[in-house]
Amino acid sequence: KDITKIRNFSIIAHIDHGKSTLADRLIQRTGGLTEREMTHGQILDNMEIEQERGITIKAQTVRLEWNGYELNLMDTPGHVDFAYEVSRSLAACEGALLVVDAAQGVEAQTLANVYQSIEHDHEIVPVINKIDLPAADPEGVRQEIEEIIGLDASEAVLASAKSGIGIDEVLQAIVDKIPPPKGDRDAPLKAMLVDSWYDPYLGVVILVRVMDGVIRKGAQIKFMAAGTMHLVDRVGCMRPKIEQLQELGPGEIGFITAQIKEVAETRVGDTITDAKRPAAEPLPGFKEVQPVVFCGLFPVDANDFEKLRDSLYKLRLNDASFSFEMESSAALGFGFRCGFLGLLHLEIIQERLTREYDLDLITTAPSVVYKIHLSHSKNEAAKVIELHNPADMPDPNRIEMIEEPWIDATIYVPDEYLGSILKLCQDRRGIQKDLTYVGTGSHARAMLRYELPLNEVVFDFYDRLKSISRGYASFDYHQIGHREGDLVKMSILVNNEPVDALSMIVHRGNAEARGRGMCERLKDLIPRHMFKIPIQAAIGGKVIARETIAALRKDVTAKCYGGDATRKRKLLEKQKEGKKRMREYGSVSIPQDAFIAALRMG
Ligand code: GDP
Ligand code: MG
Repeated sequence: KDITKIRNFSIIAHIDHGKSTLADRLIQRTGGLTEREMTHGQILDNMEIEQERGITIKAQTVRLEWNGYELNLMDTPGHVDFAYEVSRSLAACEGALLVVDAAQGVEAQTLANVYQSIEHDHEIVPVINKIDLPAADPEGVRQEIEEIIGLDASEAVLASAKSGIGIDEVLQAIVDKIPPPKGDRDAPLKAMLVDSWYDPYLGVVILVRVMDGVIRKGAQIKFMAAGTMHLVDRVGCMRPKIEQLQELGPGEIGFITAQIKEVAETRVGDTITDAKRPAAEPLPGFKEVQPVVFCGLFPVDANDFEKLRDSLYKLRLNDASFSFEMESSAALGFGFRCGFLGLLHLEIIQERLTREYDLDLITTAPSVVYKIHLSHSKNEAAKVIELHNPADMPDPNRIEMIEEPWIDATIYVPDEYLGSILKLCQDRRGIQKDLTYVGTGSHARAMLRYELPLNEVVFDFYDRLKSISRGYASFDYHQIGHREGDLVKMSILVNNEPVDALSMIVHRGNAEARGRGMCERLKDLIPRHMFKIPIQAAIGGKVIARETIAALRKDVTAKCYGGDATRKRKLLEKQKEGKKRMREYGSVSIPQDAFIAALRMG
């Protein structure tokens, strides 16, 4: 195979600018699928949730054949929670198509993607999409690309993915502009593990990019970081239908299977080499992904525990980055402590459990990993423990110091929202590191760098950022280690009973405000009962905030005046339905939704 005839590329775009539509169109034009097979729409986003949220969670790839060239299109996940996966997929390509909506122009979320692509030395091919729209302004957008991003856009392709305009030009630009990969066929095998997933028919499927050497069916391979060996039993590519091949050579992207039982045995970024003739050095940049956000998941109905466990095992088959272990709570019974890459990751898993596995769940407050330094005692050396669960917080008298994880965050935001974003970062204990401007005129954007405690980000920072900036702010971060913090455990008491699912670790300076917010929200979320219910936030024995839910005076059906029997019945049914989703605390029933809502900070 002629390596100069290979092109590996990804597509980057602000959400809704047409990345998936263009990918589908490229597949169609190069004959990967017929019109009839296309009707499903958005071929590369195959999970139901992905389609609904319009985000791509797992990277997918497809091989296109065009004019004697082999084009490998990689789809990349676009969210910070999956930053490491994005980085690995980008490392497998030599170039990227930058899709910009001709009516919207360059938007904030495009920037972070472009910079990442530039960091991987990609050749970037601008594509101005949606030129069919009446509001399209391709010339204006061309200028924006040059001014804001600093790319030469004089040869940007004008396209409409929807109407099929400019598709051949896009393919030609890929061939002309993106350099072919480099690699040595005779060197020992070196391939990067880009992604892996569980397929019910094939077992664990591994997406690889071969750098040097050849990977063949029947070969004994070694995963360098994991240190494990496997026999390759299938080699192939996706067009997007699976096609088996004899081998993958340097520069090629494709998949292998090797009788691997669980995705957890494979690590994204690992180097695959030949067991008999191994490479001397692994590829650079391997990083073990560690969950950074933890929370408890409990079934609303205790009888669903087994079902929850089975579902978690099944989900994990496809997502090695999420972890779980059994946990029991006085109030919630048996459940699982789960670890995630970030909040979106948490939400996706939670949603899949609810939707695909039909489970009603209670999610406890998300927590980061704290390092607790215990004080010396006579017969014990000083000890550091990692705390994943606020409920396991040791007695404060034994704690010498608590460290929390910090991140270095970069935020791009249009000037008009800068003030509110600065305030948000300040409120979240941020330390400003840098503030510069990119672009000019109406497209000027501030680039902010802040150091922030991850603890302040996991709750709703991302949601707040987006709502304050109307979606225009983009956000990216990496962890920079643990730092000492003045942190305390805040408990929430409902009718004088602590609700451990709502306890959280907060900075002392924020405790009162957060406690008050929580009590106020719970007051609105917990339905009235026949008696008065005090809601309190406390640190140790000290109450720092308090609200009271007044007692209910009337029966809910009383206002139906007896005449409207159907309405009355409906109301009672609704109440019964609600009961199923309630948890009893002492004698207080708390609806499941109240937990989730209470944990979203206002
Ligand atoms: P993605 O979020 O970047 O993957 O964007 P999608 O491919 O999902 O497209 C977002 C929306 O824009 C969809 O409703 C598409 O039908 C629409 N769209 C995509 N390309 C074009 C185009 O060339 N012209 C028009 N008018 N609409 C388009
Ligand atoms: Mg899409």
